[in-house]
Amino acid sequence: MLFIRIIDFKPLLKLTAYALLLVALNACDQSTETPAKVQSKGQTLDAATSQPSSPDAASLNDQQVSQLHQQLLTLDSHVDISREYMREPAFDPGKKTDMKVDFDKMRRGGLDTVVFIVYVEQKKRDQAGYDAAYKAAIKKFDAIHKMTDEVYSDQIELALTPADVYRINQQGKLVAIIGVENGYTLAKNLNRLDEFYRRGARYLGLTHSGHNDICDSSAAKKSLGDVAQEHGGMSEFGQQVVARMNQLGMMIDLSHASDKCVEDALKYSKAPIIASHSGARALHSHPRNLPDNLIKAIADKGGVVQLVAYSGFIKDDPARDAAYKAMKVEIAKTYHAEKFDYKYHEHTAEYASGMIQLNKDYPLASVSQYVDQIEHVIRIAGIDHVGISSDFDGGGELSNWQNASQSLNITKELVKRGYNKQQLEKIWGKNFLTSWALIQQSKSLNKE
Ligand SMILES: [Zn+2]
Repeated sequence: MLFIRIIDFKPLLKLTAYALLLVALNACDQSTETPAKVQSKGQTLDAATSQPSSPDAASLNDQQVSQLHQQLLTLDSHVDISREYMREPAFDPGKKTDMKVDFDKMRRGGLDTVVFIVYVEQKKRDQAGYDAAYKAAIKKFDAIHKMTDEVYSDQIELALTPADVYRINQQGKLVAIIGVENGYTLAKNLNRLDEFYRRGARYLGLTHSGHNDICDSSAAKKSLGDVAQEHGGMSEFGQQVVARMNQLGMMIDLSHASDKCVEDALKYSKAPIIASHSGARALHSHPRNLPDNLIKAIADKGGVVQLVAYSGFIKDDPARDAAYKAMKVEIAKTYHAEKFDYKYHEHTAEYASGMIQLNKDYPLASVSQYVDQIEHVIRIAGIDHVGISSDFDGGGELSNWQNASQSLNITKELVKRGYNKQQLEKIWGKNFLTSWALIQQSKSLNKE
């Protein structure tokens, strides 16, 4: 499909729609952001971009914070699922599991909405690779539908629109959204994008580790023969994917993409774009994290940056990395394997006990450090363009946000720093849903 140019009056129409939608979405928002400058963590936050504004919030007791947390619509925009999800009891979210996210943990942690991820690892771009990627993706789509449409339809429902999220939440059920991670699964076929949309996917992460047909990754994969930059940003096929996603009203997710790819997405997309699970590079220099100028540009376009609770993107800990590596070698040896294989060894008793020891010896980043990242994005982009993602069951974990049952700890830290209910609502999900609504809204303007 060709990249279609919009005619001149359309940006105006879009802008009007954007403004109207914002008015509608904020109609019931009695936001009380004050123009005052407020101190937080020793730094002055500029209230023009909005910051903690409720001196009373910080004085709430634990029970009051817990009640406040329960009142919020909370959304985690990135949670991975296993290949065996809904196929084995250990990966059945309706049962008591060791997964970081299951229904019991969501309820205990007051976590209402989760974007479940159809993730496929980047492999060779040949027919066999494409076929395997497609098969793996469909298996995960099927698992999520089995959860929402069959086995647990009384407890959780799939949301296809932001309005669905609010409705399902009102009905007292948990909410599922589907996101796809890695456009490799499209196998250079735009029809697959339509198919994924029909199967319920509402965002597509264009790339993962390793370049693909759409764009360059923030992490070239040497084992696949990647050079530093293959496309120098986004390929022509990538531009077609962006155009089609605009037409579908699907969220374009730039987490894992190279900076140049993010720039190209900002250039080619007619709708806002998002980062479903990324960090702030100004606080921790890592190619997976976003620099300030791109955070600002994503926000200026109406998008949202969902900060990721992945310790390695928040702080460096080479000693922990070395100890983790050594542990994996030991486990592989125990099982007489040539090398550690997540598929077989991640769910062993040795791995579980090894991780407990590792976390004791080398603590992960804390919720406080994570919230520093949230506050950084608020300073750069304003409070309307920031959100929360755990990357649970995909490597995400903090010392005091180890699984969904501890989600209250995020609210506690934000309250401690003075954020009020309206601000918490924005950070915990409203911003994500607003960007999504804008992206859906703009699709009618992208049809030619
Ligand atoms: Zn990821």
